[in-house]
Amino acid sequence: MHRPLRFSLRELAEGEQHRELTLSAADLDLPAELPVEGPIVVRLSLRRAGDQVHVRATVRLQAELRCVRCTQPIEREIATRCELVAERPAERDPSNPEAPNGILYYDGEAFDLTEEIRQEALLAIPTHPLCSEACRGLCPRCGRDRNRERCDCAGREPSDPRWAALAQLRAREAQRDAEEPHRRPES
Ligand SMILES: [Zn+2]
Ligand SMILES: [Zn+2]
Repeated sequence: MHRPLRFSLRELAEGEQHRELTLSAADLDLPAELPVEGPIVVRLSLRRAGDQVHVRATVRLQAELRCVRCTQPIEREIATRCELVAERPAERDPSNPEAPNGILYYDGEAFDLTEEIRQEALLAIPTHPLCSEACRGLCPRCGRDRNRERCDCAGREPSDPRWAALAQLRAREAQRDAEEPHRRPES
């Protein structure tokens, strides 16, 4: 398998070096339904000091999102960065085989950043994107985009969810009052 984010200690000289990789969503094993458009650009700074490599990564991608309120497409440039240290697992605590946060253990003479970069990309893509904080969304009654056109539904029925909740509560109370006489035990 093609592993562009796997680095062998043999190929890393002492000191700092930079790499820029242009990857596909498949290279990072990202789910196909993820709204990623075009390549994912990963910039790496790899600073080797003896058996340790300090890694700084910037991940850039273009996401094709949809506003959760009004469903309009949103094209967004997403950039995220992370840092970690790759080292030998020699000092590993046998009771805790997992690497601590921010540490990546070598697998033999190499380390693989795929999982870290994959997680970064996944976390950076918003799950509830909004075209704008002020987006007014679609009218729940007629479906019109309230950012673009007006409708007169709001005048006919409470549209604010808080009012709707209050209206529901009142309706339930009214129903309870109506049922009350039947539930009252005979005396
Ligand atoms: Zn919107
Ligand atoms: Zn409406």
